[in-house]
Amino acid sequence: MKPEKPLSAELIAPCGMNCAICSRYLSFLNGLKRSQCSGCRPGHVNCTYLFAKCSGVNHQSVKEAVFCFECDQYPCAQIKRMDKRYQKSYGMSVVENLEWIKEKGMESFLENQDRKYRCPGCGGMISIHNRKCFSCDTVTRLADPLS
Ligand SMILES: [Zn+2]
Repeated sequence: MKPEKPLSAELIAPCGMNCAICSRYLSFLNGLKRSQCSGCRPGHVNCTYLFAKCSGVNHQSVKEAVFCFECDQYPCAQIKRMDKRYQKSYGMSVVENLEWIKEKGMESFLENQDRKYRCPGCGGMISIHNRKCFSCDTVTRLADPLS
């Protein structure tokens, strides 16, 4: 059994995505495949979905950005599109995530994420993308988003 690691604010991307529950990050963390992704912020990855087309005055790269909701263009067409895609495919809303962070703060958000995506079996994290715990390989049914 792996020791439980607390969720890190550094792994919450500017768009509201929690990298700790991303398949690419979990593959990297658990030494699977050849994923080199250490998370958007830690890896200084420019956001493919948003920042490549970001027209906000404040944010040209993830490095400079804190969160999308601080942008003068928020919510822009790009984040709305991404949000729609994530809601449809994975039952998660990045805009709801952002609103949660904005209204209740990061600590509250991390607690919420921990409750929702922590594997009850081993304490690892469950991926939003395939609903699997990458530590014990269990397919877990996730509760309703942000419930
Ligand atoms: Zn597990």
